[in-house]
Amino acid sequence: MVFSSLYSGSSGNSIFISSDNAKVLIDAGMPGKSIEGALREIGERPEEIDAIFVTHEHSDHIKGVGILSRKYNIPIYTNELTWKGMAKAIGNIKEHNIKIMDTAVSIKDIDVERFDIPHDAAGPSGYSLLSGGKKVCIATDLGYFSEDVKRNIMDADILLLESNHDVEMLKFGPYPYELKRRILSDIGHLSNEACGYAITEIVTDKQKRIVLGHLSNTNNYPELAYATVTNILNDNKINVGKDIILTMADRSKPSSYIKI
Ligand SMILES: [Zn+2]
Ligand SMILES: [Zn+2]
Repeated sequence: MVFSSLYSGSSGNSIFISSDNAKVLIDAGMPGKSIEGALREIGERPEEIDAIFVTHEHSDHIKGVGILSRKYNIPIYTNELTWKGMAKAIGNIKEHNIKIMDTAVSIKDIDVERFDIPHDAAGPSGYSLLSGGKKVCIATDLGYFSEDVKRNIMDADILLLESNHDVEMLKFGPYPYELKRRILSDIGHLSNEACGYAITEIVTDKQKRIVLGHLSNTNNYPELAYATVTNILNDNKINVGKDIILTMADRSKPSSYIKI
């Protein structure tokens, strides 16, 4: 399988994943043109995308979904609640491209499983994609690291996990009080620290490639997220580079291209 983060962060998210026969996007939260450009940059053609899976209806995840579906006739998959939540924002979609997905669906040789995540949206979802004995999981926009999320991502080969903010930067930063409270709540976003502790709970014999993503532009720095997570892993005797291979998903360009 191939994993590439096209965009990851509070300003827009889109992840490309392919198998031998299928190519899909998880979210298309940037303008269509930006996503087309990012795909070309990694040597992929938007015409060949077989499906777009949507995690939830917040604009940083759906901005380009409608336009890409209309332009390239791409089916859009998500659960019924998210469909209701985003229907207006993504505009007219051809009937045959509206795919309501409850728990699992197959796109050629990729089996996709949906799981619930704790976030303040209508029916927020994480996804696991399985093909050829390998598993790629996407878990961002998490208020906390739930048992359900943990169970679903435990045996991932590649995992995109949220490392959204530094708690101190958020607390003393410019956001209004209500927004700070929302982000820190159980249906907000995962902090660098919470992300580090979450990883300590999913270390197994199988080496995992973990990509830290969905960083806040205002309340985080890539270097800080990486250092906070690595310090927690080191303190817990987890060998970064052996047990876990850790990379960062960039906010504004394709990054963490991984082939397994
Ligand atoms: Zn969100
Ligand atoms: Zn988001």
